[in-house]
Amino acid sequence: MYLTFDDGPAAGVTDKILDILHQFSAKATFFCVGEMVEKNPELLHRIKEEGHALGNHTYKHESGWKTENAAYFRSYLACHDLVDSKLFRPPYGRISKSQAKLIKKRSEINNFIKKAKPYGLASITRSGPLAMSKGSETIKDNKGKIL
Ligand SMILES: [Zn+2]
Repeated sequence: MYLTFDDGPAAGVTDKILDILHQFSAKATFFCVGEMVEKNPELLHRIKEEGHALGNHTYKHESGWKTENAAYFRSYLACHDLVDSKLFRPPYGRISKSQAKLIKKRSEINNFIKKAKPYGLASITRSGPLAMSKGSETIKDNKGKIL
């Protein structure tokens, strides 16, 4: 099973996830939002200490479709400074081709459905089970709502 958790680290959530992972001796990848890392540095520290992997999930969880390339790339870099990871996951799965091209020079883009099956995510993630329609960059929840 390939476990990933997005949008943290959040107090009251990420610490519980870490406790559960520890209990099952499981490892996961945490795609972190830069401003959340700044709010919860001790949780970032704990994620690393406990042997989990980190991923970049932008600084402010911007949608690539609604953000200019330069601003999007700055957000990527600001998060990169905090998490120092070669993995990047675009928020909402929304990233333009030109943005992806910029980021691919530095990071591997992880649009997670290639690796994780729908419902492969633990139900303790904030937004619940996720699914991605094949061949598309749109991520939907289990009711078909676009996230
Ligand atoms: Zn997200």
